[in-house]
Amino acid sequence: MAQDIKNGSTHLASLRDGRSVYINGKHAGDVTEHAAFRNAIASTCDLYDFQADPDRAELMTFETESGARVNRAWQAPGSYEELVRRREALTTWAELHGGFMGRSPDHVSSALLGQLMGIEVFERHDIKRANAFREYFRYARDKDLFLTYVIINPQADRSKDWGDQPAEDLVASIVDEDNEGITIRGAKMLGTSSIMANEVFVANLQPLRPGEENLAFACALPMNAKGLKVLSRKSFEEHAVSHFDNPLASRFDENDALMYFDDVKVPWDRVFVYKDTDTCRAQFHDTPGHTMQNYQAQIRLMVKTRFLLGVARKITETIGTIALPPVREKLGWLSAKVAMVEGMVYGMEAAGHLHNGFYVPNRNLMYSAQVVTQELYPQLVNAIRELAGGALIMLPSSEDDLRNPELLPIIRKTQVSGHMSPEERVKFLKLAWDALGSEFASRHLQYEMFYAGAQFVTCGHSFRTRNWAESTGLAERVLSARAAPSPAAARNAA
Ligand SMILES: Cc1cc2nc3c(=O)[nH]c(=O)nc-3n(C[C@H](O)[C@H](O)[C@H](O)COP(=O)(O)OP(=O)(O)OC[C@H]3O[C@@H](n4cnc5c(N)ncnc54)[C@H](O)[C@@H]3O)c2cc1C
Repeated sequence: MAQDIKNGSTHLASLRDGRSVYINGKHAGDVTEHAAFRNAIASTCDLYDFQADPDRAELMTFETESGARVNRAWQAPGSYEELVRRREALTTWAELHGGFMGRSPDHVSSALLGQLMGIEVFERHDIKRANAFREYFRYARDKDLFLTYVIINPQADRSKDWGDQPAEDLVASIVDEDNEGITIRGAKMLGTSSIMANEVFVANLQPLRPGEENLAFACALPMNAKGLKVLSRKSFEEHAVSHFDNPLASRFDENDALMYFDDVKVPWDRVFVYKDTDTCRAQFHDTPGHTMQNYQAQIRLMVKTRFLLGVARKITETIGTIALPPVREKLGWLSAKVAMVEGMVYGMEAAGHLHNGFYVPNRNLMYSAQVVTQELYPQLVNAIRELAGGALIMLPSSEDDLRNPELLPIIRKTQVSGHMSPEERVKFLKLAWDALGSEFASRHLQYEMFYAGAQFVTCGHSFRTRNWAESTGLAERVLSARAAPSPAAARNAA
């Protein structure tokens, strides 16, 4: 059954496609070999190897109507049970990286799946664009492509609208068109995982105003499209000392990159929205697209908070504080917060509904989970650091210190734990620091606070999707209730 499932070596080979990635002032060449990216790419390949394992294939994949066997993230659930089954696959994948690969391949596939569930939005816009989207979805799904997306414009000068930015060609926009397609020029932020993806979905999630039609498009491109330049941020993988010293940064630095479209030609069969500001909004918000992409993100975050809870408990065991009542209280507080994240995932599923025959999670609960978790993540990190004290810092400079016969006895004397050997203590606390305090960890803090938009944006979604009538109705019912007679009045009436 599992022989045709995409595996790691297929994915690795697909990334040797001549894409233009730049880092440290130079063209990166083959990203699969580059010290800045190769381990994270290998971790992605591990995900594909995992799903291709015959013992895991049923859990992780399903057969499409074209006969391909692909990851369950592409599967449209028709019932609550199917949504839960799909979530189990997504959860299992996230457990392989502890939730640290925010834009693993199941993220954008979830986004496109949700948009396809509301294909009538594209049909109302233009039937040709809708057909292009339907065909593209089928193509990407049956090849089990790893897609990234850039749906946000570069931050630039926030006091001005996108169309009024002074720098020329700043925001990606349509600058030309002909019988073959459109030409795009300008930038989008921040293609997380783009370096290890096959294709990029380009769209506009932020509100546009009339007159900004050239910015109002959605399309898909292979990562080696002519003119597509990918400007990587600093690689934490490249600066990781070793796997021992930076166990997370050395393996899971999925990267974020500015994408510059230097007159990139997009054929019409890859153009899904064309110069229509409202369809740009509707493709995310009038379809289940935005809900499905962020539901995947909440599943991943649920796994990550479970991981952090495990780190918290192990820290207190390592340094011998677990029996102290205030420490147990803090662990109980952390556990309750993680349970809240779990409960919100289960709740958005249980309160889901059918949309065009597809079972989708409850979007108000999903947006509420986003608002809550983007506040919660820094609180979790802070609380766990508080439990750790200087343990995260009083560590050998690198693995090499343990190999120095002069230093090893001192390390053994000072890295004491009632639960593990000195070497194990050092190894674990280096993992904890990479999750909580390293530059990699700090990027994760920023990611969890912003991947779904700044908080004024997520709160806006929560406001927009709330059933206010239910709450105001309750308030009005109490207001309009007749006053209960006082005991004296009741006696007089009798
Ligand atoms: C690590 C990371 C990875 C990312 N990956 C991707 C990706 O893969 N694809 C993608 O498309 N995008 C990605 N993004 C971009 C992300 O979606 C944006 O950062 C996010 O939408 C916020 O936009 P911004 O950065 O322009 O911040 P802004 O919107 O400028 O907000 C910054 C701050 O300014 C203030 N502010 C600005 N405007 C207002 C306002 N109108 N009202 C009130 N306060 C305001 C708030 O304090 C806000 O927190 C990523 C971002 C990060 C940090």
